[in-house]
Amino acid sequence: MTKPLNECIVPMYPTIQALDVNALEPGEHKFWFAVATDAIGHPQTLPVRVFKGSKPGKRIMITAGVHGDEQNGILTAQKLARELEGKSISGCVTIVPAVNLSGIARHSRDFHSAAPDSSSANLNRIFPGNPHGDDASRYANSLWENLLKPNADLAIDLHSQTSGSAYPLYAFADYRIDDAIRMARLINPDVILNDPGDPGILETVYNRADIPSITIEVGVGRYTDLEMVDRATTGVLNVLRCYELLDGEVESANNACVEGNTITSVRAEQGGFVICHVELLEEVKQGQKLATQYNSFGDEIQTYFSPSAGVVISHNVESVRAPGSLVVRLIC
Ligand SMILES: [Zn+2]
Repeated sequence: MTKPLNECIVPMYPTIQALDVNALEPGEHKFWFAVATDAIGHPQTLPVRVFKGSKPGKRIMITAGVHGDEQNGILTAQKLARELEGKSISGCVTIVPAVNLSGIARHSRDFHSAAPDSSSANLNRIFPGNPHGDDASRYANSLWENLLKPNADLAIDLHSQTSGSAYPLYAFADYRIDDAIRMARLINPDVILNDPGDPGILETVYNRADIPSITIEVGVGRYTDLEMVDRATTGVLNVLRCYELLDGEVESANNACVEGNTITSVRAEQGGFVICHVELLEEVKQGQKLATQYNSFGDEIQTYFSPSAGVVISHNVESVRAPGSLVVRLIC
């Protein structure tokens, strides 16, 4: 399918600075959300899709690409939108598939500031942002105040592991919040972590604003994993059915799902090339050999052992490891 240049690069959808889904007509809407200006005063605009039902119901907000290198989350949000086209909805589904524009364009986890006195920033540690802060803080604040908070009764933030490492389908949920546990189990993930959250994380900021929220990790960082994207999309559709935004049968939970309260990360003791000996979701015993590290001559320099029994929920897939970077993560 070929489209004229101006249609495929800049489709002429309405540009908005604030969204109020309650005021929209039922149906499907596409907007550019003007989140901020860039360093030369041009608008930075995010794609927003709204599927407003003709019947009342919950309003759910789906975000992806808060970390710019986590493309399987973005692909899940986009696939979800395609799945919803033409469907009858009760309530409202809003999808923001590409939150961190500067990071996504650079295949980078961080928000990239153009301010000479600013460093790049982890956008998912600075929500709800600050209207008087640096450009990353203002960007987060504009998103939070004008787009996310006013339009969400429930929220799902789609991520993946960062570049260089893999996750299975993995949900973070604060188990003190019934709707968070419920949504996490409806995703039918491989793993759920009971996570009380941390300040600055979008999921935590939603939860503290009484908007139940979960974070979903859709597999490996950066590289396309269509099986994970399909599973995550199916999981979100299952949430929409259970909360009666969509008609259809709710799938029962995955009995094999591992739920845990604690994660342990084994990190590189020094720089070098690490080859892992374990796979995702493998059960390991305390003291089991996890990985071997080599220097640039190819000589073995370090062996990594499991500090406890647990299940492997992440391991490196790029061998080059800086000191302190992730080798294996366990849940127990
Ligand atoms: Zn992330």
